[in-house]
Amino acid sequence: MIRSKLPNVGTTIFTTMSELAVQTGALNLSQGFPDFNGPPALLDAVGRYVAAGHNQYSPMTGLPALRQQVAAKVERLYGAQVDSDREVTITHGATEAIFCAIHAVVQAGDEVIVFDPCYDSYEPSVVLAGGRCVHVQLGADDFSIDWQRFLDALSPRTRMVILNSPHNPSGALITRQDLDQLARLIADRDIYVLSDEVYEHLVYDGACHASILAHAQLYARAFVVSSFGKTYHVTGWKTGYVIAPPMLSAELRKVHQYVNFCGVTPLQCALAHYMAEHPEHIDELPAFYQAKRDLFCGLLADSRFTFTCTTGTYFQLVDYSQIRPDLSDVDMALWLTHQHGVATIPISTFYQQPFPEQRLLRLCFAKREETLRQAAEKLCAI
Ligand code: PMP
Ligand code: GLN
Repeated sequence: MIRSKLPNVGTTIFTTMSELAVQTGALNLSQGFPDFNGPPALLDAVGRYVAAGHNQYSPMTGLPALRQQVAAKVERLYGAQVDSDREVTITHGATEAIFCAIHAVVQAGDEVIVFDPCYDSYEPSVVLAGGRCVHVQLGADDFSIDWQRFLDALSPRTRMVILNSPHNPSGALITRQDLDQLARLIADRDIYVLSDEVYEHLVYDGACHASILAHAQLYARAFVVSSFGKTYHVTGWKTGYVIAPPMLSAELRKVHQYVNFCGVTPLQCALAHYMAEHPEHIDELPAFYQAKRDLFCGLLADSRFTFTCTTGTYFQLVDYSQIRPDLSDVDMALWLTHQHGVATIPISTFYQQPFPEQRLLRLCFAKREETLRQAAEKLCAI
């Protein structure tokens, strides 16, 4: 018998539902990824860099040109002045960034506060570091942070708090006031902040993303994580980054150099080139995805699902209480896939203690118009 280090972990819901979608031929609105390609100029650049021989290890911390582009971007967007050599590290997707940030500072017996519903990779990374997650529920309706609950969860063992805004799965946004509250509550404590900002460019209706990078007091103790996969429609490239003050970056790099050593060289070259040539790409992203959100929500208005249009990410939550209140969300997701040909994500899987009465599914709208129309037709027929 193997003594598992992760006895409570199975295959992720994203893998499970995507596999089921393939097996059943269902439209896949479950796992979050676009069903369209990245920008042609970005894709073409990869081929050119491969042919030109950029095929050996990149520097451990990431290609300098890409780190410089990241630093320039965060200065332009958030007014943050970060040293691309000492504060930016390119990682194998945000997943590796999160793993390394946790392992850099979480020690055996430490506690890490996470807000439920929370992304699935946080807790296993904490457990493997010898720590323990303390789960704080977000508001059941608006997924906002109740700072009193956070205060109640703090203990002398709290070593880290993990934020995620725009939030997967709800799309909720943390505000500047939230960040000020957090800064005040942890000011005198030895607590690090891990800020998962992979959907930083996917905010709608003119809202602004409140980045930790724009909050000097919090940034001094933070790891800020993002993903080129989301931003450039290339999730399979698994390329992301962490920005952290020099001393924290140095600790993170000690872990990163043995987890992955370095990212994929021609992909980093292509991203650096594309970012330099097309700074407008990120400026256009909110409108690009807002149009998809509006199309999809407009089509779903004729269904028996109820929802409020998401404010961020490429996920839309829908309530199915008027359709099958008898089914748990996991059973509803299975029923929808098998009987109606649309795969979704049940959000109870993002909770340590799900609300038994919650009837919510997550739908990914990072899809071509044709896919969204086909999915909406199926969902409206139920
Ligand atoms: N954090 C969140 C909130 C996510 O939704 C994802 C999804 N992929 C990740 C991290 C991981 O990103 P990556 O694919 O770049 O590893
Ligand atoms: N982040 C993606 C989602 O939330 C999934 C990525 C993965 O499958 N690991 O759907």
